[in-house]
Amino acid sequence: MNPTHNPQLIRFALHGGAGDLPADAGPQTEQRAALREITEEAARLLSNGGSALDAVTLAVERLEQCPLFNAGVGAVLNREGQPELDAAVARGEDRGCGAVAGVSRVASPIRLARAVMEQTPHVFFAGAGAERIAEELGLTMVAPEHFIIPLRLEQLASAKASGSIALDHVDDAPPRDPDAAFGTVGAVARDGYGHLAAATSTGGLTNKLPGRIGDSAVFGAGTFADDASCAVSCTGTGESFIRALFGHAVHGQLLAGRSLAEACDAALADVRRYQGVGGCIAIGRDGALVTPFNAGVLYRAWFDEAGVVKVAIRRDDAS
Ligand code: ASP
Repeated sequence: MNPTHNPQLIRFALHGGAGDLPADAGPQTEQRAALREITEEAARLLSNGGSALDAVTLAVERLEQCPLFNAGVGAVLNREGQPELDAAVARGEDRGCGAVAGVSRVASPIRLARAVMEQTPHVFFAGAGAERIAEELGLTMVAPEHFIIPLRLEQLASAKASGSIALDHVDDAPPRDPDAAFGTVGAVARDGYGHLAAATSTGGLTNKLPGRIGDSAVFGAGTFADDASCAVSCTGTGESFIRALFGHAVHGQLLAGRSLAEACDAALADVRRYQGVGGCIAIGRDGALVTPFNAGVLYRAWFDEAGVVKVAIRRDDAS
């Protein structure tokens, strides 16, 4: 193991989206188990000397593969019944970032975002160009149907019937199927070398207009990392998180001397001001870890300073 590796520095959190969940929705056992298992896998990687960047990429790729969440397989569908996936990764060490938007044939959008950061001179690709780069870089390609599960077709039909777009994230959303797949996924980490990283991946919003891009893929909004301040991954009404410049706003508040909790609360107040709901997971350069949200629930997991994995969905239900 690298001699400069200090296990005490390690922090990690992930999320599986924010939104509403009826009081009688049940314990969400499968979702909790998935969040726990993936957090444990990231913890092992980090304890073995792995980087924050590898930990967040791995965690988000696993969540993309899990049909219980709105990213990769199980992503929500646009107005035309197609998946259009967005993802971004951020490396705190040098403010590296890579992002992709509106892809529907790349098996792992977060792997493509990472490849954009590491293997191209650019930071952000969309649509057909993004898919062409993915092919050129040898990433696994799939048909769009690979991502579509029956539940999302049902949700699209009901969103169309009610003329709604932001189903997962508005307070007046129609009651959800308690077992329904939930939101966007993301991860943040500080590794044993003190470096920060963040990653986010999403299908966006059910019944969104084709071509719409949310905050997840927008560096400085839904995804941000800088070793000077924090790593942040958001979920919620993407339009409002972009208007709030969420990640960069938290960064600025930290540089101005606020605590991570204060900085995130201020940014969330802005999201509310711009008619949005949602939440974030964030880790500060000092090791602070917070998971604030102004929606009904935030699916989340993390490990605390003692290395114990915690999973929570509602406000006070950590287990
Ligand atoms: N923030 C995502 C978007 O607007 C959606 C979500 O978090 O579920 O695309």
